[in-house]
Amino acid sequence: MLEGVIVKGIGGFYYIDTKRGVFETRARGIFRKEGIRPTVGDHVKISVLDEENKKGSLDEILPRRTELIRPRVSNVDQAVIVFAAKSPDMNLDLLDRFLLLAEEQELDIVIVLNKIDKDNNQDYEEAATLYRQAGYLVICASAELGSGVEDLKAALENRISVFAGPSGVGKSSLINAAFPGLELNTGELSKKIQRGRHTTRHAELIRITENSYIVDSPGFTSLFLNHIPSEKLQYYFKEFEPFVHGCYYNGCMHINEPDCAVKAQIGKAIHPMRYQRYVNIVQELKKEEERKK
Ligand code: GDP
Ligand code: ZN
Repeated sequence: MLEGVIVKGIGGFYYIDTKRGVFETRARGIFRKEGIRPTVGDHVKISVLDEENKKGSLDEILPRRTELIRPRVSNVDQAVIVFAAKSPDMNLDLLDRFLLLAEEQELDIVIVLNKIDKDNNQDYEEAATLYRQAGYLVICASAELGSGVEDLKAALENRISVFAGPSGVGKSSLINAAFPGLELNTGELSKKIQRGRHTTRHAELIRITENSYIVDSPGFTSLFLNHIPSEKLQYYFKEFEPFVHGCYYNGCMHINEPDCAVKAQIGKAIHPMRYQRYVNIVQELKKEEERKK
């Protein structure tokens, strides 16, 4: 028995990264009978059938910690959400939507503000402070100059990470700067989404260090939030969390209710811009809920 991680699945073959190299395996029939589909990211046990030619049989799938739907990958630990300080201009409304989707999937989150070399006024620092105060790890980086790259590498260590963010912000460039050996084409992650729209394309894991992988296509390519119930939204605003149970009313939405512990923190632990975004998105979700009734 050998343990490993499924890094690729193609035409009924699963490729398992192990301490002894990558093995090509077929899944045992039992999975089909049980209706379980081996998925990239699954931690598995294989039997080696041919050590020299690296062939084996996939015998057991260990319990999944998380299951991402788009791209379909198991056991993703964290989302690395990349935005550019300039070109394209930073859009914090969009950043919050990425954060909400990643929070909803219960992923850890790293925010990278890239292209700081293009922001002569260092306006990005205000955003960095805002999200740090909300409790996020924020790395200010320049793939061009190599700054922040060591911090990014450290944040990826021993984890499976999915990169997310608008196209053109420098996701591929950052990965190349951190791991020069991989030689991803710039725009490669983004190109892969476009291809994915027309053909079914399965995600793969790229091993970056001994115990660390990145997903080769971007996460959260659809930013629809409509599936989130409006009353649950508050739990995905990380900095609200310590206060949501301190409100007078059970089920407080922190909008019109009196004696609200969350509203009491606006301008203190909760930035007014984040609170405003919360109110806007709640209204958006409620409108959609009304429409569906
Ligand atoms: P992706 O679509 O998010 O993968 O973005 P890319 O990595 O393809 O980068 C988009 C463009 O931005 C490319 O022309 C890169 O050379 C450029 N770029 C990426 N990172 C930086 C950076 O830190 N500074 C500057 N000035 N340009 C960058
Ligand atoms: Zn409240």
